Amino acid sequence: MILEGKVALVTGSTSGIGLAIARAFAGEGAKVMLNGFGDPAQIETIRSELGAGYDAADLSDPSQIEQMVRHCIDEFGAPDILVNNAGIQHVSPVETFPPEKWDAILAINLSAVFHTTRLTITAMKQKGWGRIINTASAHSLIASPNKSAYVAAKHGVAGFTKAVALEAAKEGVTANCISPGYVWTTLVENQIPDTMKARNLTREQVVNDVLLAAQPTKRFVTSEEVAAFALFLCRDEAGSITGANLSMDGGWTAA
Ligand code: NAD
Repeated sequence: MILEGKVALVTGSTSGIGLAIARAFAGEGAKVMLNGFGDPAQIETIRSELGAGYDAADLSDPSQIEQMVRHCIDEFGAPDILVNNAGIQHVSPVETFPPEKWDAILAINLSAVFHTTRLTITAMKQKGWGRIINTASAHSLIASPNKSAYVAAKHGVAGFTKAVALEAAKEGVTANCISPGYVWTTLVENQIPDTMKARNLTREQVVNDVLLAAQPTKRFVTSEEVAAFALFLCRDEAGSITGANLSMDGGWTAA
């Protein structure tokens, strides 16, 4: 098991991509600290199934992030692997984009990545081994209309990741983005109604003409594909991959 003895903090791991990453890491022997929202009974089932820990920190609040990192250290030890995966979306033209949604997206999708990183990187450097994996997005490389906050935050994550990679390069710590195209998760499901409204389309049109239109493969990326890639980045053989923004988008950004 390649992650035996490793501690992994995976934010936003109660559903979707983060949950798949948590499962993959636990399956390879890592002690995983879960985080995210959801039904407490369902979260407890996942937690016990994976032999994991769980912290309910709201990542829009830096003090809760500090408590989450402390909780992880107390329960399992300092994280060797940090996966910044939690994220939210809001779809609206910029002129009617609610400022509080802008603030929330920037806080959760971007600033939380700074806070978790600043609080965990010292221990990784001291151990001479660490992995920081940020779930960015195709929207860290290109834009779509009506997603100004998300696109800004994800471009920010890509830039932040490069800076951290350079700072940690000599100390065995890598920092990379995985940038998926559309993955069928609640995050995508939830934006369909707003996209229908914003573009005056049916549900089927949003799926086929907006979402999958972008992806030459004409299928959704799967959470398991993203998790397998994240696992690869934790291998020692991936030690020279750092500062990279790794696309998994069915060819979307190649077009
Ligand atoms: P999801 O909605 O299934 O999962 C999001 C996770 O983040 C959940 O566990 C949720 O509880 C958690 N979360 C949300 N707000 C939080 C907060 N304030 N504090 C703590 N946790 C919070 O969505 P997903 O699609 O699995 O998204 C995971 C990541 O992947 C996000 O960063 C998203 O931007 C990115 N991404 C998704 C897609 C896609 O098509 N689904 C594509 C590219 C990138």
